[in-house]
Amino acid sequence: MARRRRAGGAGRRSGQPAPGQVRFPSSRRVEQGADGHDYEVRSVAAARAVKVYRCPGCDHEIKPSTAHVVVWPATDAAGVENRRHWHTSCWANRANRGPTRRWS
Ligand SMILES: [Zn+2]
Repeated sequence: MARRRRAGGAGRRSGQPAPGQVRFPSSRRVEQGADGHDYEVRSVAAARAVKVYRCPGCDHEIKPSTAHVVVWPATDAAGVENRRHWHTSCWANRANRGPTRRWS
């Protein structure tokens, strides 16, 4: 069997993405936190919110059956371990209110 030469490769660009370009797939939502770092944000539907969480934005509880968002450091491989549950509106207004407690 003769080996066929592959035509592919010529038109394919290799190398790094341009600086500043979003390097995450579109299924991921990454937003900048109040501290300037990138955070991955995921929505939690009301039906899936079955526990009480403490929102770091307002320091109040997020009641079960409340649609909210989960946020964690996108740049940290173990960031998901440090995820926080926020009220959707608190996360949206994070730049205005500032965190009441440190991420730890
Ligand atoms: Zn809140």
